[in-house]
Amino acid sequence: MKKRLSIFKSIQFKIPILFILMLLLSLQLISANFIRQLESQTIDNFESQLELHYDFLKTNVAQVLSSAQTVEQKETAIYQLLQDASSRGNVEIRIVDRQGYIIGTNDQTKQSLVGTKATDIRLEKLTLKSRSDAIQYVDQETNERQMRIIGPAGVDENQNPLSYIVVDSNIEGQYRQVRNIAVIFFNSSLIAIILTIVIAVLISRGITRPITEMVEQTEKISEGNYSGSVHIYGEDEIGLLGRAINMLSVRIRDAQEASEAERQRLDSVLHHMSDGVIATDRRGKIVIVNEAALDLLNLNESDAFGQDILSVLRLPKKTTFRSLFTKQDQQIISYDSSILKCDFSVIQRETGFISGIVCVLSDITEQQKIEAERRNFVSNVSHELRTPLTSIRSYTEALSDGAWKDEEVAPEFLDVIQTEANRMIRMITDLLNLSRMDQKRMHLEKELTNMNDLFNHVLNRFDHILKQDEYKEKNYQIEREVTPTDIWVEIDQDKMTQVLDNIMNNAIKYSPNGGKITAHLEASNDRILIFIKDEGMGIPRRALPKIFNRFYRVDKARSRQMGGTGLGLAISKEVIEMSGGKIWVESVENRGSIFYIELPYEPFSVSEEFE
Ligand code: ADP
Repeated sequence: MKKRLSIFKSIQFKIPILFILMLLLSLQLISANFIRQLESQTIDNFESQLELHYDFLKTNVAQVLSSAQTVEQKETAIYQLLQDASSRGNVEIRIVDRQGYIIGTNDQTKQSLVGTKATDIRLEKLTLKSRSDAIQYVDQETNERQMRIIGPAGVDENQNPLSYIVVDSNIEGQYRQVRNIAVIFFNSSLIAIILTIVIAVLISRGITRPITEMVEQTEKISEGNYSGSVHIYGEDEIGLLGRAINMLSVRIRDAQEASEAERQRLDSVLHHMSDGVIATDRRGKIVIVNEAALDLLNLNESDAFGQDILSVLRLPKKTTFRSLFTKQDQQIISYDSSILKCDFSVIQRETGFISGIVCVLSDITEQQKIEAERRNFVSNVSHELRTPLTSIRSYTEALSDGAWKDEEVAPEFLDVIQTEANRMIRMITDLLNLSRMDQKRMHLEKELTNMNDLFNHVLNRFDHILKQDEYKEKNYQIEREVTPTDIWVEIDQDKMTQVLDNIMNNAIKYSPNGGKITAHLEASNDRILIFIKDEGMGIPRRALPKIFNRFYRVDKARSRQMGGTGLGLAISKEVIEMSGGKIWVESVENRGSIFYIELPYEPFSVSEEFE
């Protein structure tokens, strides 16, 4: 993610360039003005000097010419005059008459030209009444620039000039001087530019170095590395920025640590929650899912993560993601064999922006089952109590309507009332027992018991019952398969007797045509197995899973007629399970049933006990 700046974009490059450009611009302005001024000043000075020459000679020449009578006198006097003037620098002074003939020159080498016509002076110039401006020209011989002033000297009676003074001087030296100064100026400028570049580079490095360090530090912070800090080079604005970045780094680290701790807490809460939690982003894609949710939905994390919550929860087609966060209600869904409660709530920021939804899943299968059982139980109890009460009421009504007087009917009616009342009492006793078991208020009164004796005792009682007249003709036989080895076990004798009674009772009740009832008792190393097998009507396959449910009866009318309450097997199951055992049934309809009881067993000899 690190992005390196190209050198041309960096401040380190821009600042020197800016300095140089500014310096060049100012040098350009200064130099243009300065050189021009210098040049014009120098030329002006030079011109003034030439003018001085002219002014000096003007009066003297006029006097000399007016006092001299002959040409020779004139020339001599002029020569004298010019000798004095020749000492005045690099100036060529010539005096010419109105026709352009040279009267005198200060140049010793050109004395031969005196009396000749000056070829380089145009005649029209000689009509001047006053001094000409200085003119510049290039000497054809030397090819150097010259400056010239021409002016009249002396006047005749008609006020026409008598002669002219021509002052020439080589001006190339002045130009050279200006050029030299310009060269010095440019050299100095060059040195200034080099110095400026050095200073600008140093300044820009001074600025960019801390900035580069700050960039590196902020990059480290963005990558989650809070270890370093920016070096503070000074207390200027950059120094303050550096301090602010260091402070920011500390704050971000603290905030990061706090949010990390918060995240770990949340993770641990989510991990240990028994409820499932699913959180989505604002498009409904799952971003958080805890293990409980995965277990409830029977999914792997990869199957859920990033998936659409609607499809993962298999919500009805008409449910949209928007409807989940606008209604935020609760939904009960059937998921495979479970019933799940989904509580939806919206994750909303303070600004109102919705960033997703959270769904808390709880498995309410058991709860729903218990609820259904409870409703069923209440309706069963009401119904079961109502039936005997209704018949008691109708018989008592009949008796009070006069049937009590009928000696034949009255005892019969009273007998029915008594039977129904007894059945109700049995039922209520059974219900109370079950309720105590449900509330864990019932405890087993365990005592060391010889199981063979208890088993035989129950069977003896049934042998005796079956000898009674009402069972005689059906020819019931109880076949005992009781192990000869004594089985000593710690059990609640009354409750175990109640269980065996109930199963034996059922074997007889539901074998309307009599038959053999096999009662089996055996013990292995760690368990006691009892089964009671009859050859009766059996139990239909569909009824087998419900046979131990409270009030469940295959044939309600028949059971009631036999005085059954529909609670016997439910109580038996509770008692056996409380004793750490299990009870189950195998049955084929119209062929008979086998009820099995298995109890935990720790074999020990009685002699050991009493030693
Ligand atoms: P009940 O008081 O009706 O006998 P139980 O809980 O003892 O209640 O038995 C529940 C139901 O199981 C009975 O109504 C009957 O339909 C069925 N059942 C129990 N034992 C047998 C059996 N040995 N043969 C056939 N059906 C049986």
